[in-house]
Amino acid sequence: MFGWLRERRRRAIRTRPFPAEWEEILRRNVRQAAWLDGRDAERLRAWVAVFLSEKRFEGCRGLEITDEVRVSIAGQAGIVMLGFEGELLDRLRSVLVYPGDYLAPKSAPLDGGGELEWREERLGETWAGGSMVLSWPRVVEGGRLRDGPRSVVIHECAHAFDMLDGEVDGVPPLRSPHDARRWASAVDDCQIRFEEALDEGRSVPFDEYAAESPGEFFAVASECFFQDPHRLFRFDQALYELLLEAWRQDPKSRVPTRPR
Ligand SMILES: [Zn+2]
Repeated sequence: MFGWLRERRRRAIRTRPFPAEWEEILRRNVRQAAWLDGRDAERLRAWVAVFLSEKRFEGCRGLEITDEVRVSIAGQAGIVMLGFEGELLDRLRSVLVYPGDYLAPKSAPLDGGGELEWREERLGETWAGGSMVLSWPRVVEGGRLRDGPRSVVIHECAHAFDMLDGEVDGVPPLRSPHDARRWASAVDDCQIRFEEALDEGRSVPFDEYAAESPGEFFAVASECFFQDPHRLFRFDQALYELLLEAWRQDPKSRVPTRPR
């Protein structure tokens, strides 16, 4: 669609009243929404309405796509993207939702030739082709802050955002190539500190899955940045500030010190 045409369409959608049933779903399944100030609360609702009008939702393994599914996912994604004017993860076209964790086929070449094949349990994933896959019960747990700082929606949005400037390398789009280099090197130091803390058995604010790769470090640390920002700030202030620069918002200013 032409940019101006799309913008005109989006403007029209943003001004429509936000349905009361959607409001109720946000209240129930997007705990974070309650902490936004008036202007951001309004922007979130406009973002959700446009997202729902543009993205295709598909239920997998018999899951029915209801407004509850759509609004719960869009609401959590919208909070993450609030720092950007008009950014709607344009490359993302469809959201696939499973009724639980799902198995994805995996394979790896064997030394002696041939392939080793197995199935790996997943709670979500993001494909460069423009799809996001989510496990519905995990969406609910994250939105209700019932799984510590974990949130599959934030995690996959972080990958989708990271991908906007090319591959998933743990460095999201920043204001300039110079910023990106500085940011990448600083976040690398944070990952080293995190891994040291793990090695020493110290308590860490987010899941050790973050140590898997720079891409996972960005995604898992971002979950904590939004879900439990005070704890992340206490653990590594530099990391908090790098994420603030990347996401262009400061969740610490709104999320209560004990979010649960
Ligand atoms: Zn991931």
